[in-house]
Amino acid sequence: MSVPAQTEPLIVPRPEHSVSRSNISPNALKVLYRLRDAGHAAYLVGGGVRDLLLGHEPKDFDIATDATPEQVRQVFRNSRLIGRRFRLAHVFFGPEIIEVATFRGSTIPAGTDGTDDDARRAENGMILRDNVYGTIAEDALRRDFTVNALYYNIDDFSLVDYAGGLEDMEAGRLRLIGDDVEARYREDPVRMLRAVRFACKLGFVIDAGCEAPLPELAPLLSEVPAARLFEEALKLFQAGYGLHAFEKLRHYGLFEQLFPATEECLSRQEHEFPVTFVSRGLDNTDRRILDGKSVVPQFLFAVLLWEPVRLRYQELLEEGASWADAMALASHEVASAQQQHVAIPKRIGMPMREIWALQPRLERRQGRRPMTLIGHPRFRAAYDFLLLRAEAGEVDPELARWWTEFQDANADGRAKMASAGKRKRPRRRRKPKRAQGEGAEAAAIQRAGAGGDGGGRNDG
Ligand code: ATP
Ligand code: MG
Repeated sequence: MSVPAQTEPLIVPRPEHSVSRSNISPNALKVLYRLRDAGHAAYLVGGGVRDLLLGHEPKDFDIATDATPEQVRQVFRNSRLIGRRFRLAHVFFGPEIIEVATFRGSTIPAGTDGTDDDARRAENGMILRDNVYGTIAEDALRRDFTVNALYYNIDDFSLVDYAGGLEDMEAGRLRLIGDDVEARYREDPVRMLRAVRFACKLGFVIDAGCEAPLPELAPLLSEVPAARLFEEALKLFQAGYGLHAFEKLRHYGLFEQLFPATEECLSRQEHEFPVTFVSRGLDNTDRRILDGKSVVPQFLFAVLLWEPVRLRYQELLEEGASWADAMALASHEVASAQQQHVAIPKRIGMPMREIWALQPRLERRQGRRPMTLIGHPRFRAAYDFLLLRAEAGEVDPELARWWTEFQDANADGRAKMASAGKRKRPRRRRKPKRAQGEGAEAAAIQRAGAGGDGGGRNDG
């Protein structure tokens, strides 16, 4: 079960814990010292302390203080106040940003008579505004998991634990703070995703009481802004444990809240290549991250949404659309429907669709096409995507091999390969070649979707 509120903290003096200043970012230390020297309480908190205790390198360093955001602003000229839901200060050091948050006040459970509290909650218990400042004890108890509520005090280098986080850390257990687990998920349904994320990242077990309500409460995610879910999706799938997260999210019914169209395809076709395809795609991404290689979000989202795109594409082909039109319309439909759930920003959505658009083009190898394709800015990603499809058994591995060879060949070799390809007629080519550049997609959508309600193409 979850942890009851505790008023007296456990304080672990410096000689008895392993958090060392030598592992804390020098900029975070600067912020801590300057706040202290200005007479404020200042603590390192959250993932920074947690990860240092586990011997991991923290992703970022968050600081909590009793100074108000305005006071923080006064101490640091290189800072800016941000956030509406939570007001906090960002202190800038070149590319590094140190986040400084003022201790937040406690939240009265929904449904009790706290009128102040009602004002900042929606009817469903979700917290909308949270700008009430409080003490460190209150701040600790409104954090999500006990292991995320450990404080490192810059004044005496001790660790401060109000929620039993050290004990859970030892046990490798992820537990929500507070005794009403369901209310904590309702306050902020993203905590369900965070439970999965930290379980994967830290290799911790989700406490049974916190795990049990997940399937039932998963639909609460539909109330979270789709832009916030995009940020969470990136953290889940682009941090080196994407495959594990995918499996866990599906297990709890959380994945279908994020990618409903994909889940529908996967649940219908278990044991076939769609699951293999997504799993391999995520596994690839994980490996790249662990090898220190770069990964791009457009590839990730192209993988996650490919199955619904592919099925719709095939449907449209059967209805008689040209392959280019079919792909354009299928991509458009799937990507648009996805926006309500996980909002993919345009800068990622555009290249994601290009990766898809290039798939049928990679199947057409004759004449000058391969040379044109190889110069396409999205060629490399599209080729990697094709490799994945081949590995998953969705396309002929020969096609993938051909492109591998073509890239390795010199000019002569490429010319030979392309002319050899000439003899093979493309599998399906019902309509004359159409322009593929800018605007082609919009035109294709119009052509394929002529009739608006779909009435013009339901003859297949
Ligand atoms: P990481 O940065 O490694 O992803 P983190 O624990 O630092 O993990 P952040 O999102 O950076 O996660 O948040 C910092 C801290 O803020 C958390 O450790 C937690 O104490 C608190 N926090 C973040 N999100 C929530 C939330 N949704 N509900 C309650 N507390 C939260
Ligand atoms: Mg953090």
